[in-house]
Amino acid sequence: MQTTYLSMGSNIGDRQYYLHEAIRLLGKHPKIMIEKVSNFYESTPVGGVKQDDFTNLALKVATLLEPLELLSFIHEVELSLNRERKIHWGPRTIDIDIIFYNDLEMQEENLVIPHKEAFNRLFVLKPIFELIDKDFKYYASIEKAIAELSVSEQELHVIKEEKTPRNRIEDAVKEILFAVGENPNREGLLETPARVAKMYEEILSSQRLSKFNEYKLFEIDSSKTDSIVLIKDIPFYSMCEHHMLPFFGKAHVAYIPADGKIIGLSKIPRLVDYVSRKLSVQENITHDIGDILTDILNPKGVAVLVEGRHMCVEMRGVKKVNSITKTSYFLGEFKENNEKRMEFLESLL
Ligand code: ZN
Repeated sequence: MQTTYLSMGSNIGDRQYYLHEAIRLLGKHPKIMIEKVSNFYESTPVGGVKQDDFTNLALKVATLLEPLELLSFIHEVELSLNRERKIHWGPRTIDIDIIFYNDLEMQEENLVIPHKEAFNRLFVLKPIFELIDKDFKYYASIEKAIAELSVSEQELHVIKEEKTPRNRIEDAVKEILFAVGENPNREGLLETPARVAKMYEEILSSQRLSKFNEYKLFEIDSSKTDSIVLIKDIPFYSMCEHHMLPFFGKAHVAYIPADGKIIGLSKIPRLVDYVSRKLSVQENITHDIGDILTDILNPKGVAVLVEGRHMCVEMRGVKKVNSITKTSYFLGEFKENNEKRMEFLESLL
């Protein structure tokens, strides 16, 4: 086993979430063991690019991987967390660097150890200093560099309470309760913040997913493929992104297969669920169903009709009780061929 020290930083979106995810993904490799995680630090960014603060931490990792193997696995983890790296020192969801690999010194084109910025960045050194022992080869030089950098470099502070997304929702709900004039400590409300946080996990469960992949494709006799496959009355429940209030109703989805390619029938309701379980608007849900189905099946045509009731309309403002909003989206033959479109619409009557 080799002991290595990694530095991690994030400054886009939910930074703590990305850091936790990166640690979890690294730890899943059979030849990597996460030994220690430093505190989370917040720092102001370098490089003069206007962006949010960075959150940084360091990891002590035991590994059986060679440095270049470790590097390539790190790149996989970064990629799966959608890192964007267009500007040097620019914003990024996650950035992971190998800083030390035991006492090893190496200079290769794509990997220099110790990392060439190792002794220049307080946000790298301070977290690492928490993890190293006095007998570590670079202990004295790290200690010295920290003392020097503390004078000139940007400020760093430990993020005191490191919270999970669920804790953060709980705190926010408590705050809302106070603000609307409630007492979150009265009996009926004691469990409410925790319940709301748990509920959001469920009803917004697609929020962090980037791809729908719960499906299987089947082949059928391609001479039959001019007929419309239709699934009616698929219930959906979503949350409007303008008010965070529910909107819900039914989706009707049809497609005309191409090359005998069809999707399992139960997967279309899954797709409707997938697009609904996040903050959205009805138009987006309608389009997302059509576009994802097109991506998966490349069919001759797709038709989507969504009928929804919106609590933000019914409970407030104009109060048009029970009014139903209809949105539709037609692609391919359903768009170009009037008859096909009528056939779809009539089958819903
Ligand atoms: Zn709304």
